[in-house]
Amino acid sequence: MELSRRVRSLPASSTLAVLARARALRDRGADVLAFAAGEPDFVTPEPICDAAIEALKAGLTHYAPVPGDPDARAAIAEKLSTENAIPGVTGDHVVITTGGKHALYLALQCLLDPAAPGADPPEALLPTPAWVSYAPQIRLAGGKVVEVPTSAETGFVMTPDDLLAAVTPRTRVLIFNSPSNPCGVTYTPAQVEALADAIAHAAESTAPGLVVLADEIYEKLIFAGAEHRSLGSFAPIAQRVVTVGGLSKAYAMTGWRVGYLAGSGEPGARLAAAVARMQSQTTTSLPAFIYPAIRVALMDCAADVEAMRAAFEARARIIHGRIRAMPGLVCPEPTGAFYVFPDVSAHFGKVSAGGTRIETPLDFAEALLEEHLVACVPGEDFLGAGRRCVRLSFACSEEQIHAGMDRLEAFLAGLR
Ligand code: PMP
Ligand code: GLU
Repeated sequence: MELSRRVRSLPASSTLAVLARARALRDRGADVLAFAAGEPDFVTPEPICDAAIEALKAGLTHYAPVPGDPDARAAIAEKLSTENAIPGVTGDHVVITTGGKHALYLALQCLLDPAAPGADPPEALLPTPAWVSYAPQIRLAGGKVVEVPTSAETGFVMTPDDLLAAVTPRTRVLIFNSPSNPCGVTYTPAQVEALADAIAHAAESTAPGLVVLADEIYEKLIFAGAEHRSLGSFAPIAQRVVTVGGLSKAYAMTGWRVGYLAGSGEPGARLAAAVARMQSQTTTSLPAFIYPAIRVALMDCAADVEAMRAAFEARARIIHGRIRAMPGLVCPEPTGAFYVFPDVSAHFGKVSAGGTRIETPLDFAEALLEEHLVACVPGEDFLGAGRRCVRLSFACSEEQIHAGMDRLEAFLAGLR
């Protein structure tokens, strides 16, 4: 069987691969402390589960409307309009998708085309380090990934100048993820506003077709005084912003697979209709009995979200405090999501107590797992400065954080 060129060059998700490896080791009885998972360790709040169970028992077991049940879409539109202050969003601008991951995939499929023979491919700007699935999804849609590099020293923040320097007439898409996976940074409202101005300028002067995919899936998990501002709330660029979100992170619903996207105004409605057409030929819709649970999550579960957010904030403080005190690790304070992303390159060129030469984040992560049973994600697939970093998720108990940081300290102490 010959596989397509498209899939032959497609890597598997490295975040999910590390998660699977840590689980397999644990299932075999190893005392693995996993800092790999990009998912909350909490269970889904009960009212959300009850809503789905009731809907299932009430017979919501048939095909649902392709873009999602109208009530759930209206609830998302209402949230984006009031909470996020995004203008021009109605239920018709919203498509509910199989996780935020599929919302991004469908949007990129609808916005990018493979280059015609002899022509240049459309360019997608990606501030890096960036979540592992963006670049493969851009390439699957025929786009060229153009990295906008950021670094630990400057808090992993892309400036307007960085952005403007990367824009060309071929730029079609910018992916903007705040709070960020893997960097743990939440852009300040002033930084978002400055980027909105730069985007307006770039669209006027250089890239008239520029569309921003604003991935705000971690918007509710912010701390250390951070404030989330939606890029889509800035009126001059609102119609070129597609906001992507989902329930996986804030509501501890990773296994439910609920994501969404929404544009604004006439261009946003056109994109939503295109995404729905593509969804109609691929996944159809979510399971019908999930939709009532979406409304319950958005409308009735703010206290649950706040309790989980507060727990993440306490964990962020602990893990960052421990890592900052370790020799050779450079790590900005996390202000959102549930990741720290230390630069470990000061240790490259050393040999671990178990005899592994550490030249890359992958060497570092593998030796740490082999020798001290601590699982983290090597930074290479996050691109850019990720090639010097490892990602640790603190979606785990404070006890585990302390135990894991003791092991990381012992690992570093053993490097020669
Ligand atoms: N965006 C980012 C930045 C993420 O970290 C994730 C986590 N997998 C997603 C999107 C997609 O999450 P999901 O498909 O579970 O909604
Ligand atoms: N987003 C999470 C992570 O980065 C979940 C796994 C994935 O979908 O990549 O670990």
